Amino acid sequence: MLVLSGGTGTPKLLEGLRNILPEENITVVVNTAEDMWVSGNLVTPDIDTVLYLFSGKLDTSKWWGIKNDTFMTYEALRSLGHDEIMRLGDQDRATNIMRSDLLRAGRSLTEATQELARALGIRAKILPMSDDPVRTMVTTPSGKIHFQEFWVKEHGKPDVLEVVQEGIEKASIAPAVLEALEKEEHVLIGPSNPITSIGPILALQGMKELLKKKKVVVVSPMIGKEPVSGPAGKLMAARGLEVSSAGVVDCYGDILDIMILDERDAYGISALKNATCKILIADTLMKNVDKSTALARAVVDAFKC
Ligand code: GDP
Repeated sequence: MLVLSGGTGTPKLLEGLRNILPEENITVVVNTAEDMWVSGNLVTPDIDTVLYLFSGKLDTSKWWGIKNDTFMTYEALRSLGHDEIMRLGDQDRATNIMRSDLLRAGRSLTEATQELARALGIRAKILPMSDDPVRTMVTTPSGKIHFQEFWVKEHGKPDVLEVVQEGIEKASIAPAVLEALEKEEHVLIGPSNPITSIGPILALQGMKELLKKKKVVVVSPMIGKEPVSGPAGKLMAARGLEVSSAGVVDCYGDILDIMILDERDAYGISALKNATCKILIADTLMKNVDKSTALARAVVDAFKC
């Protein structure tokens, strides 16, 4: 199975999928539009969450960073007056340093990610969506800022006037992703932010055309008129989309074959009763690993429909 992922909702589902599928049968294509250079190193938040999940290192209380990490470098920099935008852990920073050194030595982001995955003993294939830089920028009433500044520094508080992915027109689908898509018939779009996580992957030139030929199952990240968590609502509204599972369907367009809605999503179930894609209902709230595994089973069954 090939899974399109961001850094929170879909990794929760990946935790369940790796309980029921051989790890080597899972390929994850990860959003890179939230990547950012911090103190000389490239931080790739979504890739790292997926790497740490598969290596058993992820801090699943936050869904980012390494469990029991320390923050000595971050604090030392702060005491020198160098305030980093993200509170990076020391071990997490080691990942960023290795990745950035590989990039500085001329390797692609795909190669650097593969090297890290190997070092972490991961058998799943974890692939950045593109080797070219793409940046999600958010326009607020006080100006245009990087998504990380909006979400991490400003805690998602400013009004959002516009969201754009800078660099997306020039970015190509990573060759390893094209190769994986050639072999894989089943594509899962996990419950991730439709604008900042899945949007950039689908916006890569040629991606939607490739996905139209696949069986695509989506798990909605929305219940009723709200996302389960995070800023997806504000960002969808800024794109003129309804904040609901119906808005997610509008956002993804005609690539969808099956949409899995939460059993509590009465609004979505009613709004999508005449949808062209097939609608399935499940408990999609992944409050623990058992819930994630049960949803993963529902996803595997959905591909058999
Ligand atoms: P990000 O990269 O950290 O923004 O993470 P993602 O884009 O992967 O995930 C954020 C999205 O996941 C949000 O829109 C949430 O609504 C959704 N989400 C988080 N947890 C769950 C869950 O347990 N169930 C469902 N259905 N959606 C979830």
